[in-house]
Amino acid sequence: MLRKRGLALVLALMLALGWALAEEPSTAADAAASPEATEEWLLMLVNRDHPIPDGYEVGELVQLRGGQSVDRRIYPDLQAMFDAARAEGVYPIVGSGFRTREKQQSLMDQKIADYRAEGYGEAEAVELAEAWVAVPGTSEHEVGICADINADSGSTSDEVYSWLAENAWQYGFILRYPEDKTDITGTIYEPWHYRYVGREAAAEIYASGLCLEEYLAQRSPSA
Ligand SMILES: [Zn+2]
Repeated sequence: MLRKRGLALVLALMLALGWALAEEPSTAADAAASPEATEEWLLMLVNRDHPIPDGYEVGELVQLRGGQSVDRRIYPDLQAMFDAARAEGVYPIVGSGFRTREKQQSLMDQKIADYRAEGYGEAEAVELAEAWVAVPGTSEHEVGICADINADSGSTSDEVYSWLAENAWQYGFILRYPEDKTDITGTIYEPWHYRYVGREAAAEIYASGLCLEEYLAQRSPSA
């Protein structure tokens, strides 16, 4: 009887341990629970007025199956989000993740050349291009904590964009350039560009309807 009870106790312990292991935090969002360590990159504002700080070191990158790379810290939630979308019959793909400064520059040069080819003068072409392509040094892509998410075969862009608009916040991603915030973000509506901010901030941003600039200003009004 005693031995049986002992065995039951061991089994109970193993179950409890197994449960604990299964529940062990493993995502970047859970890591965000210690803000000191992660907040700097997690809520880093990168835009025309806030270039990537000099000497900023890009986090370790992880390469995705499609060939793009992202900061390793956003990968678990990105994967979880894609798994959830696929489970609902929506097929997203990362069209663009991390970009080097040189890549961002070449995108800008190409966009300017496109406008020049359409007959615009240099200054106009630059202005038009900068509405579409972030000035090198001011793109979240150069930090690796965002992703342009497009439709893979089996889905339309609309299906992917609307699924993301509704669900991405649950995985720590926000629609970075909403349609009604272009005057604040300085960037056209980009239904494909999702920025990782962690699950807590993403939930707050989604619920409030604020864009990242507004959300950060509200958090620290003096900044
Ligand atoms: Zn983008």
